[in-house]
Parts: sequence; C-alpha cells; structure tokens
Amino acid sequence: MADNFKNFINGEWVEPSTGTYFENRNPAKQKDLIGHFPRSSREDVDRAVAAAKAAFPDWSRTPAPARGDILRRVGDLLTERKDEIAKAATREMGKTLQETRGDLQEGIDTAYYAGVEGRRLFGHTVPSELRNKWAMTYRRPIGVCGLITPFNFPLAIPTWKMFPALICGNTVVIKPAEDTPHTVALLIEVLEEAGIPKGVVNLVHGLGEEVGAAIVEHPDIPVISFTGSTETGSIIAQQCGRMHKRLSLEMGGKNAQIVLADADLDLAIDGVLWGAFGTTGQRCTATSRLLLQDEIHDEFVARLMERAKGLKLGYGLEKDVEVGPLIHEASLKKVEEYIEIGKGEATLAMGGERATGDGLDDGFFFQPTIFTDVKPGSRLATEEIFGPVLSVIRFGELDEAIRINNEVKYGLSSSLYTRDAVASFRAFQDLDNGITYVNAPTIGAEAHLPFGGVKQTGNGHREGGWEVYEFYSETKVCYLDYSGKLQRAQIDNYEASPY
Ligand code: NAD
Repeated sequence: MADNFKNFINGEWVEPSTGTYFENRNPAKQKDLIGHFPRSSREDVDRAVAAAKAAFPDWSRTPAPARGDILRRVGDLLTERKDEIAKAATREMGKTLQETRGDLQEGIDTAYYAGVEGRRLFGHTVPSELRNKWAMTYRRPIGVCGLITPFNFPLAIPTWKMFPALICGNTVVIKPAEDTPHTVALLIEVLEEAGIPKGVVNLVHGLGEEVGAAIVEHPDIPVISFTGSTETGSIIAQQCGRMHKRLSLEMGGKNAQIVLADADLDLAIDGVLWGAFGTTGQRCTATSRLLLQDEIHDEFVARLMERAKGLKLGYGLEKDVEVGPLIHEASLKKVEEYIEIGKGEATLAMGGERATGDGLDDGFFFQPTIFTDVKPGSRLATEEIFGPVLSVIRFGELDEAIRINNEVKYGLSSSLYTRDAVASFRAFQDLDNGITYVNAPTIGAEAHLPFGGVKQTGNGHREGGWEVYEFYSETKVCYLDYSGKLQRAQIDNYEASPY
C-alpha cells in the first residue's frame, strides 16, 4: 500500500479537509505508485494563508542574517540528503539521476547564496538635495507569497522562489505541480529539520485549477510567483491584475541554437544533443530549434542524427540511461499531435514515434525526433512542444539567423556556436532573449545569475541572482531632516542655487 501524503500547515503535517487524494505514479514505470497526495481545497489554502499571515510579524522582524542561518542549514541538509532526494525526484519526474542531482545542486547553491544575501539586502544611502537632511532606502518584507511551480525542476524551481522570499522576511504558501509533489514534500522536511518557525513555510498539494487558483485569488496573498506554461500564466496574470498583486511569471520558450560555418562542429553537436534531448526536451530552455548555416547544414544533420540514434532511453535511475520519459500521457499526446503537424510542414528525418520495447512499454517514452526543412514561421518553428523534438532550419547569413531567432513570441534563451568574436557580440546585442550563450547550449543557468526571458516568456522579473530579491521586497525610502526648520524640497534648494 502506498502512503497517503499530507499538507504542511502551521508547522504540522495535516490531512486535507476534503479527505480526497490523487495518485502520483512513476512516468517511466506506471505500475510504480509513489503515493497518494492531498487533493486539497480552498479551505486548506485558507488555513495555510492564515498560518502564514500569523507567522509574518515575527519572521519579518527576525534579523535577516538569522533568517540566512536557517537557509545555510537547509543547504547543509540538502547536501546530506542529495542522493536520496534526487532519486525520489527521478522516480516521479523521470529525468536521469545525473540531471536530478544537478537539480538538487541548484537548490543547494540557491540556499547558500540566499543565506549570504541575508547579510546584504543592501539599500542605498543617497545625498539629499537639502542641507542637514539624510536620505536612504532599505528593503522591506511584503507579506505572504503564493508560489506555484511546474514539474520539470521539482526541487530547484521551488527553491528559486522560496529561499529569496524567506530571506526578504516573507512567509510562503507553496503549491507544487501535481506531477512532482513528493520532491517538494522532502524539501519541506528539510526546512522543518533546519528549524524554520511554524507557519513560515506552508505546503498545500492539489490541482492547479483548484488549489493554484485559490492561492492566486486569495485576498491575503499580495505576491504571486508562478513558473509554468504561458497559457496558465495568462490566466494568473488576469486575476493578479484585477487584484493589484505583485506577480512574477516565468513561462514558455522556443529556444534556438545557431551554428555558424566556422564553429567547432563537435562541440556544437554535443551542445544540441544535450540541449534538445536532455530532460527529454522538457526544459523551458530546451533547444527546440537548430539553425544551421548553409555550408555545414548537410554534414551537421548527418552527424547529429548518427549521435542522436545512439541515445539510450530508459528509467533515469538505471545505469547509462541518457533520456527519460515524458511526464504523462497528455504530454505524449501533445508531442504526437506536433509530429502530425510537422509531417505536413517539413521532413521527418528521424524518430516521430512512441518508443517501445526493452523496458519502455510501461512508461511515457518518445523517440528523439528531428525534423529538417523546417520553415521559419511554421508551427514547428514557433510553438513550444515540450518534448524531444528538434526542428532544423537552414539559413544563409548571421543576420537571417538573428531574424529567425527573434520571430517567435517567446524570448527565453538562445545560443550561438562560432569562433568569431564579432559574431558573438552581435548575438549578445541582437538576439531577443533573456539569456544568450556562446559556444554552450541553450541550457545551463547558474544560481547566482538572474534567470528569465523577454516577450511572452516572462513579465519583466527575474529569478536567481541578485535581482530576485527586489521582487520579494518593497523599497522603503526614509528621509530624516535635522535642520530644525521647514525645508521644502524642489523649492528651497533651487531658490538657494546659483543656477
Ligand atoms: P503548467 O502551466 O501546466 O503548470 C504549472 C503549475 O501551475 C502547476 O503547479 C499547475 O498545477 C499550476 N496551475 C495550472 N492551472 C492553474 C490555474 N488555473 N491557476 C493556478 N495554478 C495553475 O506547466 P507545466 O506543464 O507544469 O510546466 C511546463 C511549462 O512550464 C512549459 O511551458 C515550460 O516552458 C514552463 N517553464 C518555464 C520556466 C521558466 O523559467 N521560464 C521554467 C520551467 C518551466
């Protein structure tokens, strides 16, 4: 009998008010039932928000370095439990153990970075226009933050949101993706063991349109941070707009790797294999378009296909497996729909079918797939598929590649392979994305740098690095006038000025 998991509210593991649960199964081995997770309701969200609200006054007044001490302990405990949690993440998400260990490491790095940020959280001290007057800013906590996360980075993305929110003095209610609730439950165990005070972190499992929507609509949650599809992000943005909430959105991508004829082709092939088929193409930064310069196109495609055919599919905990399953049946069906669309628009060069046999029949496996002769502007070239499907587009000059890269509605990451320094700086300047890599694939964010995209990938905020701390805090401006008289800004200073 698989376990019934619980919500974590006000420092306690509690059953959902509904008494109902949903199943979480291994996407590589559907017979493997991981557990039953609470199908919670608005009532559970209300309780979690009330706990977070009650915990806010004390937590927000806890010195930020002391908040940081807890997060450093979280980093230590995640390091100790790295293998165990990574294995649990592979079991429910499907990507290989090597990748979930990377996911864990990203969370560990984020914990240590946030811990130190508790000793910074800098404001500014700025000269006043007036004599005997002091002006400065500091960062203030905001309140309860609602965090809604996707399945593909089950550990890292929750930490990207939660740790900066906590360091800034906020309390949180998190709803993880229903496909990967176990990893977040383990993260909460770690926070509990590290000594997070009760009510500061609350976990409510459930479905997006039930628990997710209840979080977004809750009047006592002023801050929402969401990562997921652009479609869901639009629904959330409308509600947050109506309620004047602060909102961070990280959404879809259609990322391109561009290869110029002068590039190190071996390196570029390694890059695209990892970028397109790593995480089974289910990364927001996955390489889903490959733009090849005319001169090298045919040779590159032939060599790439040779390598891609050798990729080993299977259960991510098994040795030598390079590509895991898709997350669920609906995702497989979506990929299959795009294969049909693609057959009408381009040439199916390899793959294109469910992968079966040799331990694959009980999972959501799909063959690594490559389309060639893909036309810029076509559906294959512009829509997010979120699976192991690569669209190859031929181009003549760099200007054309830049134009093709930019003519999609998304703008997360891009990559250029070249030995030409001038082309590299053209790429940094003209590729319309939040992140551009040169001689590296479209994936590979580092915890201490800002992460996010332009256009319909985001709404102007960034996760990671130093910028995320601005999202989770309000700037307070403080003036202290010790002149002992009324000084009128913009009036008295300019009257006294020789200009
Ligand atoms: P999704 O939008 O289906 O779900 C994301 C989360 O939103 C889940 O927790 C889900 O339960 C919740 N949700 C669904 N409907 C909701 C609603 N009406 N109200 C509130 N919450 C709701 O996305 P997914 O399939 O889990 O993830 C894949 C998508 O995420 C892809 O589009 C990918 O590009 C994107 N993504 C983006 C980034 C980034 O940083 N830009 C990172 C990872 C994934």
